[in-house]
Amino acid sequence: MIIKTKSVCPECKKVIDAELFEKDGIIFMRKTCPTHGEFIERITDIKTFERDHNYLKLLYKYIPSSDIPECPHSCETCTTHKSPIVLGIIDVTNRCNLRCSYCFANAAVSGWLFEPKFETIKKEIDFLVNQDPPAPAVLFSGGEPTMREDFPELVKYANNKGLFVLVATNGYNIASSLEYTKRLGDSGVSIIYLSFDGLTNETNTEKKNHLIIDKIIDHCRQTNIGIVLVPTIIRGLNDNQIWPIIKFASQHMDVIRGVNFQPISFCGRMNKEQREKQRFTISDLKSTLEKQSQGVIKGKEWYPVPTVLPFTKLFEGITGNKAITFSSHPLCGEATYLFKDDEGNLIPVPEFVDVDKFMSIIEKHADEIKNANKLSKSVKLLSLLNELLSTINFDKIPRNLKFKDLLKNVILNPGDMNALTEFHSRALFIGAMHFQDLYNLDIERLKYCPIHYVTPDLTRIPFCAYNGDLGYRERVEKRHRRQFTHKNG
Ligand code: SF4
Ligand code: SF4
Repeated sequence: MIIKTKSVCPECKKVIDAELFEKDGIIFMRKTCPTHGEFIERITDIKTFERDHNYLKLLYKYIPSSDIPECPHSCETCTTHKSPIVLGIIDVTNRCNLRCSYCFANAAVSGWLFEPKFETIKKEIDFLVNQDPPAPAVLFSGGEPTMREDFPELVKYANNKGLFVLVATNGYNIASSLEYTKRLGDSGVSIIYLSFDGLTNETNTEKKNHLIIDKIIDHCRQTNIGIVLVPTIIRGLNDNQIWPIIKFASQHMDVIRGVNFQPISFCGRMNKEQREKQRFTISDLKSTLEKQSQGVIKGKEWYPVPTVLPFTKLFEGITGNKAITFSSHPLCGEATYLFKDDEGNLIPVPEFVDVDKFMSIIEKHADEIKNANKLSKSVKLLSLLNELLSTINFDKIPRNLKFKDLLKNVILNPGDMNALTEFHSRALFIGAMHFQDLYNLDIERLKYCPIHYVTPDLTRIPFCAYNGDLGYRERVEKRHRRQFTHKNG
């Protein structure tokens, strides 16, 4: 099997042809620059790839692919990007209270400050809200966003505009002050996105926030802020922490809502040997977790993000409102849900729900539900519900999960969040997103990215273009930075 795509040369960054091919059960990307030669990079395993390919067909049904000749070098003026913004990211400062050795963006190390003014960030927030459809969520990032004195006011502004607010943080300012955490909660922070690389000194080498995690959890619990742990996984450094982190999260499920793994993406130039030593893919993550958990979470129990596309259509059909589409490329990210039973066992939801069948039933009925009048809509929803019940294995379902009621609630009363809230109090989201670098960049993936940076110039740039050494971040920060002094730091 050979799939043609486009990428860039990691040296000169010119767009070049690339192909995905299989060798011994592994999918590689191969690309050749006329000037800088051939590059081969490991992407995933064949099982994951074949399944992702089916979901790619589904994605193309919703949003057909097309050639965008200037991609990925014209994001700031591009009007043909494929996906709406599901998550907008706003960098609010490059100041930080830590000095991690790999971070050159830190104001105190680089000597310059990138910290857009309050009024500029308000405009960036407005930019997100004014998208069509409006972006539902914003992630404030940095540096360490909580270093800004006016940060709670920024959160309040975004929250008042209807955005779901997340904050990417190392957790130190939250651990050190309950009062400050409360201010964040009162301003409207829903989730902290906590960079968290492991539970030991050897694996959490730089941030060491495993030493303060109990305090972070305690302060978030008291202020009603949820936590998503975000481990960056590097082969040979912390890939032994995947199951321990999930188990740890499951012990604090009233506060920790999920774990979102990020297999490492590389910055700058690296030789093949160094890359192979550290490269970790989503398929590596799934197979490692299957081994570490002794089969509790199997690789086949993960699903690529576009799996939920039919749900969007159904939701639109039921409510009559435009819903946001989770239309990232299947190779970008996968997820599953774990449910905790009364004995404390973690049970992946796909163990008792046939997810493929479930989604194909929704896909089959969503259009007719959308086009039906009020009366026949109710009848059709009831018959959909009955059909969906056939995808559930009631012998395997945890006794403390009233899944039938949950389903009934979601389908027949989508505005009522009680049943979903109840489900989430016992469920843990497990996700993985493999950010791209110059070596594995697949432009087909980038075109569908739903995670965008908003810049002070009020432009939107997909995450992997902005952070992927294509020059966007450098140009934007250069235009808006100023000299760092200890007075402004
Ligand atoms: S990545 Fe998206 S925004 Fe950027 S050039 Fe390509 S299609 Fe346009
Ligand atoms: S951020 Fe990168 S990996 Fe994630 S959806 Fe966008 S292009 Fe894909």
